[in-house]
Amino acid sequence: MRFVHETRPQRVRFGSGTAPDAVAEEVERLGAHRVMVIASPAARDAADRITAGLPLALRHHEVVMHVPTEVAARAHQAAVEARADAVVSIGGGSATGLAKAVALASGLPVVAVPTTYAGSEATAVWGTTDGSRKTTGSDPRVLPRAVVYDAELTLSLPVGMSVASGLNAVAHCVDSMWSPGSDPIDRTLAAEGIRALAEGLPLVTAGPADLRGRELALYGAYVSAVAFSSAGSGLHHRICHVLGGAYRLPHAQTHAIVLPHVLALNAPYAPEAQARMARAFDAGSALAGLDRLRRAVDAPRALGDVGLRRADVSAAAGLILPVVPPDNPAPVTRAVLERLLTAAWNGDDPA
Ligand code: NAD
Repeated sequence: MRFVHETRPQRVRFGSGTAPDAVAEEVERLGAHRVMVIASPAARDAADRITAGLPLALRHHEVVMHVPTEVAARAHQAAVEARADAVVSIGGGSATGLAKAVALASGLPVVAVPTTYAGSEATAVWGTTDGSRKTTGSDPRVLPRAVVYDAELTLSLPVGMSVASGLNAVAHCVDSMWSPGSDPIDRTLAAEGIRALAEGLPLVTAGPADLRGRELALYGAYVSAVAFSSAGSGLHHRICHVLGGAYRLPHAQTHAIVLPHVLALNAPYAPEAQARMARAFDAGSALAGLDRLRRAVDAPRALGDVGLRRADVSAAAGLILPVVPPDNPAPVTRAVLERLLTAAWNGDDPA
């Protein structure tokens, strides 16, 4: 066994109903006196409660998925004009992503309060979109200094979005099993993420107000993001990155739909990872475990339903091919990608 594992410096607080006090304490620890709060409109109620205890400089609500560069520039300008000395983001990956863009431009520290299972808060990866081109990079300055997880804030996340976002977190686990930087620590965290999400997500769909299911899903989302942050993106994330950037597909739903097809492709070529995921799902195979979970939560099935045109499948395969990780377990050609995307577009049985 030989590996290099880097643990990212970040304070993480977890506790239902604790966000207002916890965020105020984290802001105080940073010594900040002029806070910029970035909150998506859907998280406005949560933002009202959390902001009440903060030394506020401004609230910013222009949050757009995949962080268009002009949206990022306006947020940075607003931070400069308000002389903000810290950023608090409240919302899903889009709100966290905008806070990261401000941090990248300004160096301001971020406290993240996630309200979905996207996991961006645990990574040093930033992303912006210019036209149809999505650019990402990694920079330690964008890693939130602290994350406050409060599952009560996720109770308002609609079931459909909870399912898609939760499967986005499962995708972090699956890719972490074989992406280029995957190490034994990542795979341990990824297996734990699968276990927690496979238990939590069906509880969320059975009873969206069930805090136990919400806590399991949020905890699972965190450990899967920590795994992914170290392991880096594998074939699955490369595919979804292109689809999200070039065709503006919704992030979480795209992950939820593509994941079983990538798992079906790679699993036969990665027997150890396959067996480990099967154990984490408590199923006969990884694919059977994912399939059982997807049925239990009524997961989205077809790329055709979320905005990809059938006519775009071939061109999309051409865009993905150059970014396929060279050490992906299964051999990947343009024809393989076209078959995979066609199956995902139709919503075919991945097996
Ligand atoms: P999102 O943040 O856009 O949220 C999806 C929808 O849910 C939005 O309409 C939002 O307003 C709503 N919402 C969020 N929280 C809610 C709540 N508690 N109650 C009700 N509604 C709520 O989407 P996402 O899937 O969380 O994040 C996707 C973005 O994050 C993408 O741009 C993706 O690229 C990025 N991302 C980045 C990383 C990274 O490491 N950099 C990791 C994961 C995702």
